[in-house]
Amino acid sequence: MNASETVGAFGGSVYVVGNVDSQQSLQISCPKLQLDSSRANTWQCHVNTDGELVNSPPVGRPLEQDSGRLCKYRGTCSSTPILVTPYSSNLDCVSAAPRYWETQTDVTVEVGVGWPAVEMSVVEKKQVDRNVWTCYQPRAWSICVVDCPQHRGFCTRVYDEGRHILCSTNTLSGVPGTQTTLSYGVVLDVGGRRLAFIDLNNNAVLAKFYVSFTELLYPMFGVGSRECNYSVQMKLVSGENIEMTDTKKALIYTALT
Ligand SMILES: [Zn+2]
Repeated sequence: MNASETVGAFGGSVYVVGNVDSQQSLQISCPKLQLDSSRANTWQCHVNTDGELVNSPPVGRPLEQDSGRLCKYRGTCSSTPILVTPYSSNLDCVSAAPRYWETQTDVTVEVGVGWPAVEMSVVEKKQVDRNVWTCYQPRAWSICVVDCPQHRGFCTRVYDEGRHILCSTNTLSGVPGTQTTLSYGVVLDVGGRRLAFIDLNNNAVLAKFYVSFTELLYPMFGVGSRECNYSVQMKLVSGENIEMTDTKKALIYTALT
């Protein structure tokens, strides 16, 4: 057994990654997060009764843009933001530990086009809902799955404050009817100024960022709209629902060191 698990008062789980028999180990927390159904942009998408974000407007409900609801972004944010003062006396060591969460997204290609199909990001509060995708924004760090003009196929593209920095190719086939499940993880260490994205389909750390965060942070989740010719259904996996395997622990440790 090379990891321990506890369920903390914050409703999440705590793990140790790295070699627990040496000083080269780290405690991480998997807080319980929720897709915010009240802020989902219901012109484009909604959170269904199973708690999943789907890229179609809700059926049988009015489409008024309620107060606080996202109007531009093609997705939603987490219900609660993440504080950027990890060493505040109000927080315990678990709250200050690096955090980890992930998504599992079912994608069906209807007619592949250039729009992003899936996005995961971390965004400072002032940038929330400034664009249809966070990958184009400052103070936002994103991965998005898109029919890439550079590689003529679907890539997972990584963006650093609006700048495309790399592609992971062959994410999915663009052949109409293609169905796949894409899984990605996010590692965020506010105190350590570290943010990383993990490709769980290919067991690879896609990118690491070194960032001093200055505002509340929102995890963001984008699925686009049916106009993009994809069917997308995204599940946020967090807290004790994360299946923490040895492979994931190794990836998270790599992301943090
Ligand atoms: Zn590409």
